[in-house]
Amino acid sequence: MNAIVLVCGNMFDGSSEELSGPTEISVEGNKITSIGPSVKRPPAAQIIDLSDRTVAPGFIDTHVHLTMDAAHLAQQTLESSASKALKGLSLAREYMNYGFTTLRDLGTADPEWPTVDLRNAINAGLVEGPRLLVATHILSGSAGHGDLRGFYNPRWTLPVSAIADNAGDIKALVRREHTFGSDWIKTTNTGGYFSAGDDPARVTWFDDEMEVLTSTAHQLGMPVAVHTGAAEGCKQAIRFGARSLEHAYLIDSEGVQMAERAGTYVVPTMQMTQEDLHEMKTGTLPCQAVWKFRRDNEKILASQKLLSGSQVKIAYGTDCGMFSFSHGILEFQAMVKAGLSPLRALKAATSTAAGLLSRNDLGVLAPGKLADIVAMPGNPIADIQATAKVDFVMKGGIVYRDTRRRYDDAAVVAYERKAS
Ligand SMILES: [Zn+2]
Repeated sequence: MNAIVLVCGNMFDGSSEELSGPTEISVEGNKITSIGPSVKRPPAAQIIDLSDRTVAPGFIDTHVHLTMDAAHLAQQTLESSASKALKGLSLAREYMNYGFTTLRDLGTADPEWPTVDLRNAINAGLVEGPRLLVATHILSGSAGHGDLRGFYNPRWTLPVSAIADNAGDIKALVRREHTFGSDWIKTTNTGGYFSAGDDPARVTWFDDEMEVLTSTAHQLGMPVAVHTGAAEGCKQAIRFGARSLEHAYLIDSEGVQMAERAGTYVVPTMQMTQEDLHEMKTGTLPCQAVWKFRRDNEKILASQKLLSGSQVKIAYGTDCGMFSFSHGILEFQAMVKAGLSPLRALKAATSTAAGLLSRNDLGVLAPGKLADIVAMPGNPIADIQATAKVDFVMKGGIVYRDTRRRYDDAAVVAYERKAS
C-alpha cells in the first residue's frame, strides 16, 4: 500500500473555525490515517513538502452539467451519447485541476445515459477523473424548465426532454432513472432564465405532481434536487422533502426560514448570476433570457443577501456547462461578494457539500476519511481569492496535479538571476 506524508504549512480541515497552522497528514492507500503536528513516517513513505501551502479537503461542486453545452445546445443534440461522455470526461479532468475532486452532475439533454457511463468509468478506475454522482435527466412537466422542445423547430421531435403530465407517467420517469443508475432525481418546479418558453417566476408542478415525484423517489431511496426560482416554488420543494433547492433565485424570507427549519440545503449558484449580469451588460445574454433576467436580477441579488444572512445550509454549486468550467472556481468569490464569510464559503465546498451528498467520507480532513486533499499558496480565510490558486490536487491518495515545482523553478531562476 502506498504511504505518503504531507508536510503542510497550514490546514483548513473542512469544519473547524480556523486554520490549524503547521500540520502533517499521513495517507495510506486511499485514506487519511493520521493528522497532527507531526505524524509517524512509515519507512517507505513518500514525503511531500507543502510547507509553503495551505491544504484543504478536495472541493465539491454539487451542480454541474458535464454533457450540456448551453451555448451550443441545439447542435450538441446531434452528437452521440458517447461523444458527450468523452467530452464530459475531458471537462471533468480539466475541472479537477482547479481542486474539484467530487462533482454532482444535475442533468443531460441526451435520451441515453452518458453521465452514468462516465461516473461508472471513473469510479471503476477505467479513466482518471473526479468522483461523480449523477441525476441523469431533468424531470419536468411539459411547459416546465425541463421541456426543451421550445429550443427546436416544432416539427423536430427528438426525445430530448424527460416530461410527464400525470401521476403514472411521473412515477414511470422516476423509476426509469433508478433502473438505469441515477444516484439523484433532478426536477424543475419553476421555469428558468436560459430556457425558451417558460418563466422562473411561475411554478410548473402542481402540489399533487410534486408529491408523487418526491414520494416515488424517496420510496426508492433517491434524494431529490429541485431547480426552483419563484418563492412559491422554493416553498413547494421544501414542503415535499427536496434535499436541495438549486438556484432558489427568488426565495423570500419565509422560504429561507422554512429551509432553516427543514434542514433543506440550498445551492444558490451565485457565480452564474455574475456571469448573467456580465452578459446583460455586454448584450450577449441569449434573447429568451433577457426579459426575464432584466426583470429579476435585483430580486435575485436580494435573495442571495437573505440567504447569506441566514443559517441555511449553503452548498457550493456552479451550474458549469451553462457557462465555462474555467469560471467554476469563482463561485467562492461570488459567495463572499454576496455576503458569506470566506469560512462559510469554504465549508460550502467541503463539509456542507459532503453533508448534502450524504458522504461522510468526504469534505473533512480527519483519520479514516478519503484522502482528497488540495493545496494552495496563501490563506483562503484571509483572502478567498487564494482558492483560485490551487496547484496540488490529490484524490483518493493519488496525486493528480502538482505544478508547484514549475513555480518554484521559476522562483529559483528569478532568484539566481537577481543574485548574479
Ligand atoms: Zn443546472
